[in-house]
Formats: sequence, structure tokens, C-alpha cells
Amino acid sequence: MFSNLSDKLDKALHVLKGHGSITEVNVAETLKEVRRALLDADVNFKIAKEFTTTVKEKALGQNVLTTLQPGQLMVKIVKDELTALMGGDAEGINLSGNPSVILMSGLQGSGKTTFSGKLANYLKNKKTKKPLLVACDVYRPAAIDQLHVVGGQIGVEVFSDRDNKNPVAIAQAGIAHAKANGYNVVIIDTAGRLAVDEVMMNEISNIHKAIQPQETLFVVDAMTGQDAVNTAKAFNDVLNFDGVILTKLDGDTRGGAALSIKSVVNKPIKFIGTGEKMEAIDVFYPSRMADRILGMGDVVSLVERAQEQYDEEEARKLSKKIAKNQFGFDDFLKQIQQIKKMGNMKDLLGMIPGAGKMLKDVDIDDDAFKHVEAIIQSMTPKERSNPAIINASRKKRIGEGSGTSVQEVNRLMKQFDQMSKMMKMMQGGKGKQMMQMMNN
Ligand code: GDP
Repeated sequence: MFSNLSDKLDKALHVLKGHGSITEVNVAETLKEVRRALLDADVNFKIAKEFTTTVKEKALGQNVLTTLQPGQLMVKIVKDELTALMGGDAEGINLSGNPSVILMSGLQGSGKTTFSGKLANYLKNKKTKKPLLVACDVYRPAAIDQLHVVGGQIGVEVFSDRDNKNPVAIAQAGIAHAKANGYNVVIIDTAGRLAVDEVMMNEISNIHKAIQPQETLFVVDAMTGQDAVNTAKAFNDVLNFDGVILTKLDGDTRGGAALSIKSVVNKPIKFIGTGEKMEAIDVFYPSRMADRILGMGDVVSLVERAQEQYDEEEARKLSKKIAKNQFGFDDFLKQIQQIKKMGNMKDLLGMIPGAGKMLKDVDIDDDAFKHVEAIIQSMTPKERSNPAIINASRKKRIGEGSGTSVQEVNRLMKQFDQMSKMMKMMQGGKGKQMMQMMNN
């Protein structure tokens, strides 16, 4: 995420970080580089200029030049300004009302339907919410099908009416259906067009007026940079929406949209989409994003993602198995699947401070576990639960069956063995012993 921008900011600030004494000249030089980095990331020219001016004023105001660690103070000022630029505090969505109605708007292809599903799933997992999805695209039958597929994946009902060509009427019928059937959140997915046009704007505006949603969200593809900002402005002029959803931040996004949108429409970014899977949704925290942009990682989000996937019942079962020496390859596979649910690997590793920079040019296959899964899937149930019986001829068969090699099977067996030992030690309270093992 934003690796190019991170890289350039790191280089710009590097000069200051390394200097014992800092002069006004190299502060000015640094800020010039910072501005260039922002412009390269497709940040609006005016915003980039204001940004560096503010940072300069703060640096002078706080007497950066006379402090003990001027470089660090400069980084802090830049971080605080990046945070402010993206909105300051995180803002949630308004879920008052019964049902609370959430209207989704945005261009076709921005990720509206996908995000509607993600949001429904996110709210459903909060246990107190029972969401209903409503399909209001009357032009593309495929869009209705897509929402049904998404609803099926996450176990959320989808309300649609293929014979009705009036989106306002469908939205109203959807809300009535929710009221009658005990749904407390209604998420309305609407039709988008490839570009802003009057017909689409009139339609979304009519739906908006008729249903008066608690929350109107504007979904935009972060990859589209300044176009995203212009589209946001057009939608905001008509809808006066409540928040922005930035999608596709998992891709090679330059960052311009994330950094400019708040200043232009004065509306917070509320969520981000970081992948095609239903779990790839994150609350947008400006300060955590600033940390990530400055290569400081985002451990808090990483821990939160792990917690979301944590299943107490499963953990208890696993713990018993480890204690009884019954941890097998099936359990190993389950663990891998849980990690995969947390998001794509490069994204996860990028949340570890410093790792993002190190891994910038490393090509991390999102299917990093593909071979491991294939090997385990080629094992018989007996082999999975009792790996000790896997002898040379079995290894050969497993290697062939999984399209890998005996060496790869051996490597996995060794890793599995180490992991089992490590888990056993952790359980026995032998943390110290484990640390020693890891240090070796
Ligand atoms: P809509 O026309 O606005 O409803 O857009 P869709 O929800 O159909 O999304 C368009 C495409 O973008 C689909 O192929 C989605 O899988 C993909 N997509 C949506 N959100 C994300 C995201 O956060 N990351 C990535 N990589 N792809 C996404």
C-alpha cells in the first residue's frame, strides 16, 4: 500500500534523520522533496503545497533546529499533518434508526456491490446487527445476480425485484421488507455508470430524497487518483454524503485519493477495501494510515485482524490436542486457513514496523501457502493425524500427488515438527526454552 510514496518520504526525511545539526537549508530541501513525493503520489497540487507550508510553519514554531533530535521531531510533525490531512480521528457510521438505512453510491466498477457485501458481513459479525441487502440496479441483471452471490457467501438475505424498473420503489419495498422481517440494517446497492452523468445523479438523488437514509456512503476506487477526488466532489454536490469508502487499496495505489479526498469534500473516509474477499474491509484510522505511509507499520490493526479471526472454541480444542500430542496436519491446515482469512500476505507483513520497506521489492505470492496446502491435501486422513507414519515411499506418493517434490514434503514435515514442539513448550510454560530455540 502506497509503497512508492512511503519510499520517497523515507528518502526525503532520511537526510534529516541522519543529521546531528540541521540547518534551515536542509529543512527547506527536505520539504521540497516531501512535496515532490506527494505530487508523485497524485496528491492535488494545492493540497501538497499547503501541506508543506503547514509543516514548515510548525517546524519553525516548535524550533526544530534547536531541539535535541530534530529529525524525529520533523517526522512527528509530518506524521501529525498526514493524519490531519486524512481526517484526524476515525469516524464510524450512523447506525441509529430501526432499521438503519445505508445508501451506497458511486461509479460502476468502484466496488459498491463488493463493499455492500463486506459491510453487511462486518455488521453481521458484530452479532447485534441483522443486515438486509437490497439490489437497486435496474439496468444490469448481472448486478442483481452479483449481489445474490455475495449475499450467499456471507449468509445475508438479498432483497430484489427483477420485474420492477423503479429503483425508488425497490428501495422502499426493501426497507418495508426489513421492517416486517426484523432486519435492523438495510444496505442499498445502487446502479453506477462509468462516468458521472445526469441520469445517474438524478436517480441516486431521487432514491436519497425518498428514503432519507441514516448514512449515505460514496464508494470510490483509490486507484483512480485525482479522478476519484473529482468524482467525489460531483457526488457530494448532489448527495451531501456522510462518508467515503476507498476501495482497492491493496493494489498499487499511489495514495493521492486517500490524501486529497478529505480536504476536497470535507467528509471522512470511513472504511477501506483491501481485497476482493468479504473479509478485506478495515475501518479507516487516519493516524494508523499515516504510520503506514511513514513505514512505521500498524501493529494495532494487525492484532485486531488476528483477534477477529480468533475463535475461542477452536482455540480450546487446539490447546487440548497439543497437550495430548495430537496436533496433526489437519489442525495445521486450519491454522493456515485462518491466517489467510486475515488478508493478503504482503498487506499483513506491511503492518509490521520496518517490514514494509524491506519487502517492497519482494514478490510475495498471495498463494504462499498453496504448496503447503497441496501437500497436506495429498495426505491420507491417517497420515494427517499421525505424521509419524509418513515414511519414504509415502513421501514420494505425497510429493507426486501434490505436484511438488520429496524435498518440499520433507521441508514441510520438518517445519511441522518444529512448530509442534514449539507449541508444546508454550503450553508447558516453557517460554524461555522456546525463546532460546527461536534464537538459535
Ligand atoms: P460496482 O460496479 O461498483 O458494484 O463494483 P464491484 O463491486 O462489482 O467491483 C468491481 C471489481 O472490483 C470486482 O472485480 C471486485 O472484485 C473488485 N474489487 C472491489 N473491491 C476491491 C478491493 O478492495 N480490492 C480489489 N483488489 N478489488 C476489489
